[in-house]
Amino acid sequence: SQHISQAPSISQYPAHSRYNTAQFYRMAEGIMTKAFVKGSWVEGSGGTFPVTDPATGEEIAKVADCTVQDVNTAIEAASVAYETWRLKSVKERAAVLLKVREELLKDKERIATLLTRENGKPLGESMGEVGFAASFFEWFAEEARRQYGETIPSAVPTKRMITIRQPVGVAALITPWNFPIATIGRKVSAALAAGCTCIIKPSEDTPLTALAFARACERAGVPAGVVNVVPCSRARVQEVGAALCDSPKVQILSFTGSTGVGQWLYSRCGSTMKKISMELGGNAPFIVFPTAKLDQAIPGAMASKFRNTGQTCVTANRIFVHESIHDAFVSGLEAAMTKELKMGRGLEAGVTQGPIINQRQYDRLDKMVKESVAAGATVVRGGMSCGGLFYPPTLLTGVKPNMPIAQQEIFGPVAAILKFKTEEEVIRLANTTDRGLAGGYFFFFLCP
Ligand code: NAD
Repeated sequence: SQHISQAPSISQYPAHSRYNTAQFYRMAEGIMTKAFVKGSWVEGSGGTFPVTDPATGEEIAKVADCTVQDVNTAIEAASVAYETWRLKSVKERAAVLLKVREELLKDKERIATLLTRENGKPLGESMGEVGFAASFFEWFAEEARRQYGETIPSAVPTKRMITIRQPVGVAALITPWNFPIATIGRKVSAALAAGCTCIIKPSEDTPLTALAFARACERAGVPAGVVNVVPCSRARVQEVGAALCDSPKVQILSFTGSTGVGQWLYSRCGSTMKKISMELGGNAPFIVFPTAKLDQAIPGAMASKFRNTGQTCVTANRIFVHESIHDAFVSGLEAAMTKELKMGRGLEAGVTQGPIINQRQYDRLDKMVKESVAAGATVVRGGMSCGGLFYPPTLLTGVKPNMPIAQQEIFGPVAAILKFKTEEEVIRLANTTDRGLAGGYFFFFLCP
């Protein structure tokens, strides 16, 4: 999938060890904590909420807690800005997009450091993610020039039928913490290229990265009101989400996050009949067929499973391995995990596995593993908490399709291995999920 093919692997970027906390604060001088509305940095009318470093529990900053009132101000600003932004030529809009890309890349190391502090992922992954976010602005600056319409043969000789592409209007963008700038970059670049304006509601776990993004937009000369960022605390997400769904001035809602929240937003948008775009949870099968080369399948499983400490929607959630190579695969994977994975703070050298994002996700993961072990899964490695929000890279065998670990999204560094006998059986099992987001397989054949 796009995530796997385009995001850099852990080894592409060296981990850094140069930032201790004091240095971070100096480096992060100018860190934005207010909401960004109508081109200005404003207080949230709900006060502030704390953002913590999941690796240490330390509070990093207090961020504006926006209420429905603030969101309505942002909707109004985006709605007014839309009237002029939509009329800009594609060439003008593309120039602004390229400037945003430039500003993101200029500030890449600082934004990445901030991202690592609030999300926990290794700095190398954060650096890659900022670059990935910037790349969307280049792509959509180019793609904006190709918003071609169509001519359609008419049944009547005196009529011509054509289609043209028009911007939809104000876009509400609700984004998750696991790729806090890539998901924003992807949504905002497309919206702006099309001539839409937007309101970003970032995750309460990673608002600082979203505000750093807004700062890049400001520096790039994005006109006031075209990009607005309204962070809010977990206690307010429902009312803020509802305000975005209920407003007739918001024409489209784009959401990346969990399936449950997606379902709620989807039904809430019914009253205004908005356009909706959703990227939700996954339960990806990863199949290792008997002909697979283990020296390819094992690195493939490592890359898919452990990037972002397993907190990706396209990660290998259920690893199906054919019985004939099962034991060799398991011992090879265990050896690779021991050799390649190092847990710790994302700012430290050599670290590949950061903490779990928050206590809620940690407890969910811990419970899922415990219940699966109680139901008969075997812990080959890991499987028990090791302090704070750190969960050790874990390998479970003997997993059965009906266990919690195979039914739910793991969202953590736990490789769950299921054994299979036949192709028919594994295809049926792979498809036994209501979350068909991603999938992968390894096999080998020689062309005749
Ligand atoms: P989440 O659904 O809890 O939160 C996502 C966003 O929705 C956050 O900004 C959150 O504040 C907001 N939110 C939560 N409840 C809301 C409500 N009632 N109204 C309005 N907004 C609300 O998910 P998460 O824990 O942040 O992210 C993990 C989930 O996201 C996983 O299930 C993962 O698979 C999914 N995800 C999917 C993709 C994809 O591309 N398909 C990418 C990343 C993450």
